[in-house]
Amino acid sequence: MASTCDNGIVSKVLSDSYGRTIRDLRISITDRCNFRCFYCLPNGEPPMARKETILSFEEIANIAEVFVDLGIEKIRLTGGEPMLRRDIVTLVEKLSRLKPNLKDLALTTNGHSFAEHAAELKAAGLDRVTISLDSLGRQKFIDITGVDAIHKPLEAIDAAKAHGFEPVKVNAVIVRGRNDDEIVDFSRFARDKGVSFRFIEFMPLDSGHEWSREMVVPGREIRDAIDAVFPLKLKETTRGTGTAWKYEFADGAPGEIGIIAPVTEMFCGQCSRIRLTADGQIRTCLFSTTEHNLRDVLRSGATRAELIDFIQQVALKKEPRHHINDAEFVPASRTMSFIGG
Ligand code: SAM
Repeated sequence: MASTCDNGIVSKVLSDSYGRTIRDLRISITDRCNFRCFYCLPNGEPPMARKETILSFEEIANIAEVFVDLGIEKIRLTGGEPMLRRDIVTLVEKLSRLKPNLKDLALTTNGHSFAEHAAELKAAGLDRVTISLDSLGRQKFIDITGVDAIHKPLEAIDAAKAHGFEPVKVNAVIVRGRNDDEIVDFSRFARDKGVSFRFIEFMPLDSGHEWSREMVVPGREIRDAIDAVFPLKLKETTRGTGTAWKYEFADGAPGEIGIIAPVTEMFCGQCSRIRLTADGQIRTCLFSTTEHNLRDVLRSGATRAELIDFIQQVALKKEPRHHINDAEFVPASRTMSFIGG
């Protein structure tokens, strides 16, 4: 698909069959993780993709370049735990060469080994970082993640602030009976640290298949709990193509609250995302039941035009919406740690 800009230059755009433009690419760079979060990858040592199926940095950079040519403006590196991929700084350097057409290069991490690499990542061109932190208490953090390492994401958040990543986002998946008693504490943390704290509804993407509707704390309930203690002001009246409703504190305190409610307030109509798994499969939705093998196309020696055509054809298959709330819901073909959140 091509469109003509005001200046007459023909530029390619990635669109789906429902009029949505795809601007945001999430690249999982490994399916390995050193945490065992109960809502994601709870059990022991899961089967990992074979090493030869994992895309090399060169392959990722080549594919990313094609995507950026197709109008992708944001790339987020994720996993698994992306910091487990050796020499991630080199990948960030390669991807940051795609700027200025690439406008935003971000990373989602559990923070385990971010602090010691924060300076290098910043120098290599990483713009933003999101750090997961599902409890502020040491024992509860262990119960949720399976590791005694709460100091790591806390150090990562401080390092991200110190190295000028802005805004620093912190993600917590809120699960009934596990950490919903910390909603106000998380908000106080956002104010004290001046970070954007994002409360995420639990989605049925856990490899333990323990998700149940009763475990989901609706975004509205989270917002009301915060608002009762720290009154909130909606920052923008639409989410745009973002996933979060964003709030500031009405008293002018620093920090921000983001509410991400994919289960109770579906935002598929505004979705601008597409995903590439560590083993080179394109996923058009978190909940896709099929994938599209870009790795084989790339490794078969496809020309650039053939790659573009393949990606455009895949984008047209993007699902109109997820079906979490429908009786006929079929779980995604892979779970979150393999897809890349
Ligand atoms: N390892 C990194 C981390 O911990 O942030 C990046 C990968 S992780 C899969 C990315 C994000 O997905 C995290 O913020 C995590 O909280 C979120 N996530 C994982 N499983 C989820 C689920 N079942 N429902 C909602 N969010 C989930």
